[in-house]
Amino acid sequence: MNDSAHYRGRFAPTPSGPLHFGSLVAALGSYLDARAAQGRWLVRIEDIDPPRCPEGAASTILHQLETFGLEWDEAVMWQHTRGDTYQHALDRLIQLDLAYPCSCSRKQWQAFEIYPGWCREGVCDPNKPLAWRLRSDRGERPIRWQDRLFGEQQFDPAELGDVVLKRKDGLWAYQLAVVVDDAEQQITDVVRGLDLLDNTPWQRQLQSALQLPQPRYLHLPLIVTAEGQKLSKQNLAPALAENESGVRQQLFQALEALDQAPPKALATEPPATQLHWAIANWSLARLRPVGHRLTPSSHSAGD
Ligand code: GLU
Repeated sequence: MNDSAHYRGRFAPTPSGPLHFGSLVAALGSYLDARAAQGRWLVRIEDIDPPRCPEGAASTILHQLETFGLEWDEAVMWQHTRGDTYQHALDRLIQLDLAYPCSCSRKQWQAFEIYPGWCREGVCDPNKPLAWRLRSDRGERPIRWQDRLFGEQQFDPAELGDVVLKRKDGLWAYQLAVVVDDAEQQITDVVRGLDLLDNTPWQRQLQSALQLPQPRYLHLPLIVTAEGQKLSKQNLAPALAENESGVRQQLFQALEALDQAPPKALATEPPATQLHWAIANWSLARLRPVGHRLTPSSHSAGD
């Protein structure tokens, strides 16, 4: 790859709880893609929603990454420190007539699939707390891009709705923060879970509006339970192993989940050995563009 010298990837967890197997696969995919391209790999803690982020969760995540040998370059970026920059971006969107204040509550529009845009031409109730929303109907439509695994993508952002950029309680929303920070960290390659594929149109729309560079995107298969549920902190997916043999086994299983076909003997090797092999052998061509992978059975992750 001729742009490999400039490759900059990132892992951007929300510290709402410890990492689970699904987050390990996302972190590992992003790490390997960056390291195989001799690029840099950064970590950004997406702690814009303090009520959802228990004390200590961010440091647990950083510790988990270290335990699995996923070492990052440069200082960790913390989103809770970035409010002024997000405000600046929102001000610019307001100037461009791409963001508008909205007083509507979820309850008011619950009969609709997406927010119907009632406040677009003027706030319905200026006495209520106001959120800020994106005019998803303005700008390039449809939004098209090439996902590195899932190929040609095409979405009409207006069908996805006027996403919230700043919440009524004053907290920043993910879509704006992620775009501003991917640009700040000069990210060239976003590698993350498939659950965020349909967030990408808003992010690309925001990048164009704010005249920010557009990274390449690689969405990775999601890890699901036998019932087809995505592993998540909400459904209490178990935290990653802490003991040595559990760590080795889960790292190996994460390589398998990424279809890298690691040799069996690697399963009991320490993270550094496994990662050394995985970087040298990283192959996106091996990764099947299938949306889901089953979680390895939990009994094998123990002791
Ligand atoms: N913070 C998001 C999450 O934990 C990921 C953001 C991203 O990779 O764009 O789901």
